[in-house]
Amino acid sequence: MLRKVLSGVVALTLVLGIVGMALAGEPGFITPPGSWDETYDVVVVGGGFAGLSAAYFAKKAGADAVLIEKMPFVGGNSIINGGVYASYTSKLKLAEKLGQPDSPEKHIEDTVVGGDFMGDPALIENLVYGSPIILDLLLDNGLQVRDMISRPGGHYGYRTHTTINQSGSDVVLTQKKMVEEAGVKVLLNTKMTYIYREKPMEGRVLGIRVETKEGERNILAKKGVILATGGFANNPDMVRVHVPWITDEVGCTNHPGATGEGLVMAKQIGANSLHECYIQLYPFADPNTGILDAAAVVPFNGPSFGIVYVDVQGKRYVDEGQRRDVCSMAALNSGGFPTFSIFSDEMVELFSTREDIEKYIKQDRCFKADSLEQLVKEINARTYKGQKVNMPADNLIATIKQHNGYIDQGADPDFGKKIDKGIAKKIVAGPYYAIPQWPSVHHTMGGVKITPRAEVEDLWGNVIPGFFAAGEVTGGVHGTNRLGSNAIPDCAVHGMIAGTMAATGKPPVLK
Ligand code: ADP
Repeated sequence: MLRKVLSGVVALTLVLGIVGMALAGEPGFITPPGSWDETYDVVVVGGGFAGLSAAYFAKKAGADAVLIEKMPFVGGNSIINGGVYASYTSKLKLAEKLGQPDSPEKHIEDTVVGGDFMGDPALIENLVYGSPIILDLLLDNGLQVRDMISRPGGHYGYRTHTTINQSGSDVVLTQKKMVEEAGVKVLLNTKMTYIYREKPMEGRVLGIRVETKEGERNILAKKGVILATGGFANNPDMVRVHVPWITDEVGCTNHPGATGEGLVMAKQIGANSLHECYIQLYPFADPNTGILDAAAVVPFNGPSFGIVYVDVQGKRYVDEGQRRDVCSMAALNSGGFPTFSIFSDEMVELFSTREDIEKYIKQDRCFKADSLEQLVKEINARTYKGQKVNMPADNLIATIKQHNGYIDQGADPDFGKKIDKGIAKKIVAGPYYAIPQWPSVHHTMGGVKITPRAEVEDLWGNVIPGFFAAGEVTGGVHGTNRLGSNAIPDCAVHGMIAGTMAATGKPPVLK
């Protein structure tokens, strides 16, 4: 029996190794070149929230920094993020204005609990304490956020800020401007294909090899390489190695570059990794495309204001205030496809804007009607991936009536939702709205293991000299499940730590 188990483990290790090498494109150890084509102090790989932040802070700390990006533009997944940013406070004091002041301790607690106690508390503290520092810096550099603050699933404090266009591109464009103004050199269409280390599994990280249209180049990093290459959600083979039940039928919200080779290359030179089997589905993507468009942010921002999620039978299937993993699994187990967010006109400006909702209606991503009966007719008139639904209008009317009663009572006996009295609204007058929604692969919580100073650790728990990482390529920040709107602060704060560490050897002061 033991022999069978051991041979199974060996076989699995071999398979993972072969898959990893095939994904990285180059097996084994490559001896560092005798001479280098370019030299910088700090080489940042990946131009998303994390890499842009790392490059900016490395440059500001006095280092000659270069940003390497394989795509023709910076932004990565960050640019198609929903533009939501969790921070317990900011210079705008939005939570305070709502009469719901938050605290760092509450944000830490929610993040620890939301990841089933599997996140590293020191990394979570970085995220939480660094978050308002970065948000205020972005605001000072022109980022605009909406005059609202929300409490999405898994958060029990009002801390989620939404950018003006409800898109991560608002943050990326601000970061891009900051990086350009700071004088960071940005190399686009430049793909890292290997990370050079002095010896196999030993010594300093020296630099990287890149592939460009003109050929290969070797880049020396005198002070450090910062890995900020994002996650692997758009690499079906890598996803399936870790979570075999995620098949082709499950959509993906990610950009084409989220293929995870940076993580594989880091492992090739001895980096440790963790939590790769924790892969998040975004519960509210467009059911037809799997994309997280702007309309898909409405169900995310709505729960504390009284939005109701129903299945194809017009019945609630989950506590709308729950975490993404809970909402996703409840939808997948709801017995039909897709599910819907239901809300009324009175609620629109609490978590969206009238202009946006009109835009989603024109795009047929949101349906509008003067009565709930008519709304059901609109829902039943569409097809979702070619399939019809047959929602009974009586069910939806009964569900909304019952939910209104729960708002009055301040308690939800069916699913135990936390109802914030005075903030949660009943659905009593039209027009009424519905947005269809369905889970789609979104975020890979696992990745390279880092210290709280963003240094990459090796398999034996030692720091790999000259090697730092930040953002979705790292593991252990969020545990089993990332709370929505914690991604930007995670990436940007750990980017700040990695950039400052690489440039100066000292972390920034966060509290
Ligand atoms: P994060 O949110 O952690 O910053 P993103 O996915 O937004 O991650 O950004 C990661 C960026 O890294 C993407 O723009 C992606 O194209 C880039 N990237 C990934 N792999 C490589 C690579 N091998 N070489 C250069 N850039 C890469």
